[in-house]
Amino acid sequence: MSIYPHARFLLSVNSLGQLPPDAGVEVAFAGRSNAGKSSALNALTQRRALARSSKTPGRTQLINLFELEPQRRLADLPGYGYAKVPAAMRAHWQELVESYLESRACLNGLFLVVDARRGVQEEECELAGWTQRRALALHVLLSKSDKLTASEGRTVLQATRRQLGDHGGVQLFSAVTKQGLEEARAALRDMLQKSTPAERGAAPPG
Ligand code: GDP
Repeated sequence: MSIYPHARFLLSVNSLGQLPPDAGVEVAFAGRSNAGKSSALNALTQRRALARSSKTPGRTQLINLFELEPQRRLADLPGYGYAKVPAAMRAHWQELVESYLESRACLNGLFLVVDARRGVQEEECELAGWTQRRALALHVLLSKSDKLTASEGRTVLQATRRQLGDHGGVQLFSAVTKQGLEEARAALRDMLQKSTPAERGAAPPG
């Protein structure tokens, strides 16, 4: 039985104007292409169809929205780091993702999926910076941890924590062995339950 039995794909958007009403709570997922974001989404929600929707040709460069429960949504952000993307596509990704992260009032946090063998690089620092500007919760999944020895795992965990400072949680995660699954689910639950910055009366973003 899925922990989100009523989860369903809502829609894909190419601009912020197409998003559903800015109400309830959203949690976003981002990651370099091939980092394991779809596998993480599947494992976290126990709904294979969710991540499959995001991989449908034509949808990979869009923000894909899923409703987990009424007023609780996941926003699967377009992947980045493809080998040969034209500059215009990279610019569109940056414009779309940056403006979404900075202006979406119902957004409560970002899950960043990072291949544990690569660690945090320039794009991840950029994404972390966008969340930091409006004190948005950040949770980093160091994915495919089954490919590392325990000692390599500890090293990348420490290095990532150093890189991100106090900003955000960092954990090892494997969709294959399920290492870190409960910790990740708890972090997701937390983000979905907490009131959003907008609800807490923070100054509106932007
Ligand atoms: P996405 O492009 O970020 O959505 O990545 P996918 O979830 O499609 O995963 C990319 C590749 O990494 C696939 O071949 C997966 O089978 C593999 N992969 C994903 N998660 C894990 C994991 O936890 N362990 C291992 N060993 N492989 C994984």
